[in-house]
Amino acid sequence: MKKQYERPVISQLNTGVMNKFGTKTEFTPTSHIDDNAVKDLLKEYGSPLFVMSERTIRSTYKQAVRAFKTRYPKVQFAWSYKTNYINAVCNVFHQEGSWGEVVSRFEYEKALNNGVPGNKIIFNGPDKTDDDLITAIKNESPIHIDHLDELYRLNELSEELNIRPQVAIRVNMDTGVYPMWDRFGFNYENGQAWDAINKIMLADKMDLRGLHCHIGTFMLAPSAYGIAAGKMSDLAIGIKQKYNKDIQYIDMGGGFATKNTLKGSYLPGADICPSFDDYAEVISTAILNAGFKENELPLLILETGRAMVDDAGSLLGTVISNKRLSDGRRATILDFGVNVLFTAFWYDHKISPAQDFSHYTENTVLYGPLCMNIDVVRENITLPPMKRDDQVVVHRVGAYNITQSMQFISLRPAIVMIDMEGKAHIIKQRENRETIEMNEVLPEYLKAFKL
Ligand SMILES: *Cc1c(COP(=O)(O)O)cnc(C)c1O
Repeated sequence: MKKQYERPVISQLNTGVMNKFGTKTEFTPTSHIDDNAVKDLLKEYGSPLFVMSERTIRSTYKQAVRAFKTRYPKVQFAWSYKTNYINAVCNVFHQEGSWGEVVSRFEYEKALNNGVPGNKIIFNGPDKTDDDLITAIKNESPIHIDHLDELYRLNELSEELNIRPQVAIRVNMDTGVYPMWDRFGFNYENGQAWDAINKIMLADKMDLRGLHCHIGTFMLAPSAYGIAAGKMSDLAIGIKQKYNKDIQYIDMGGGFATKNTLKGSYLPGADICPSFDDYAEVISTAILNAGFKENELPLLILETGRAMVDDAGSLLGTVISNKRLSDGRRATILDFGVNVLFTAFWYDHKISPAQDFSHYTENTVLYGPLCMNIDVVRENITLPPMKRDDQVVVHRVGAYNITQSMQFISLRPAIVMIDMEGKAHIIKQRENRETIEMNEVLPEYLKAFKL
C-alpha cells in the first residue's frame, strides 16, 4: 500500500518546558472520572458525553454551606435552575436542602414537578405573565418583582384573588464593578428602590418579605458583595424604621466565580478564583455590622449557580481527525463543538487527553464537528498530538453548557451522573431525529414529491 503523504512542516516541539505561568504545559491524562474509565463511559453511552459527578456536587454544596453557616446564623441556598436544570442534578441539590430559584414558567414547573414546595421556589426574572403570577401567588411562592409594571399588576391580582402575594423587590446598585447590571430590578442610588418599597407598603396589598439582588456573574471581587450586602441591609433597616416592618430575608443572588479561566485572563482561573469563605466573610460581615438587632437578623439567601456545579461536570469526546492549516499549525477536530460547549466562547477550558501520551507538545487549534466557521473549541492550546479515536476530557463544564446547548447541525449528547458509590446512571438520553421532530408538523399537501 502506498504511504500517505503529508506535507512537511517545521514546528517547535516543546518537551517539559515551562510556559509563561511557570507551569509545565503537559498534563497528566484524565483516564477516569469518579472510578469510571473514560473509554468505558464513551463505549457505553456514546461520544460525546456529559458526565456529572454527584460526589463533587455534594461536596461543593457542603463547602458552600459551611462557609456561610460558620459566619452567619440563618442561611438558605436556592438552586439556580438555569445553571443546570437536569432533574437529577436539581434533586441532588434539593436533597442537600436547597430551595429552587427559577426565572421562567418552564423552570417554575420543573421545580414544582421535582417536588419543591411552592413557598420554596423563588420566582425571579423580568418575564412573568398574568398566569405565571397567579400560579405563583396561589402557591405562595416568593415573587421577586423586576419592574413597576409587574408591581402594579401584582397589586391588581392580589385584589382579584383576595390573597396577599409574598414578594421581594430586586435591587440593582453600584458595587464598583462595571458595567453595572442595572437592567434588572430597581436602582438603589437613584431612589427607584425606595420608590418601589413605598408603593408596596402604602398600597398594603402584598407582603414585602425580602430584598433581592444579583449583582453580576463570575464576580472575581468579593468586595463587591460587601458593598451590595451593606446597601441591602441599609434598605431593610430603613424599612423597619419607616414602616416598622421586619424584612424576613436578604437574597444576595448568585455570581460567585469558578476556577475556569476567562479568555484574556493573564492568570489561570484556579489561581485567582475566590473561595466560598472569601465571599461568605464579606457578606456576613456587612450584614452583621449593619445594625440589625440580634433577633431581627434576616435570613440570608444565596442563589449560587455556577460556583456550585461547574467543577462537577465534564464533557468527554473523541478526536475525529488532525490536519495542518495553511500556516502549518496543527488542527485537531473533535466530535463536540460550541453547540454543546457554549462556554468555549468565554473560557479557555482545561482539556486533557484521556490516554497516555508522549511528552512532546504542540500548539494546536481545536475545532468542533460543525460545518460552520465559528465552531472553534479553542484558538490555541498546548497539547500533545492526538490521533483519530483518541479521547479527551473537558473539565469544569457543569454550569450553563447543558442548559445552553442546542441541536444546531448535531444533536445533544447523553448525560450521565456518577453516584456516590461510583456507579453511572443515565440522566438524559442522547437526542435523536424523533425527539427533535416531535413538535414539527408537516402539512399533508407537502408530503409527496417527485424528483
Ligand atoms: C443566573 C442567576 C443566578 C445564578 O448565577 P451564577 O452566576 O451562576 O451564580 C442567580 N440568581 C439570578 C436571579 C440569576 O439570574
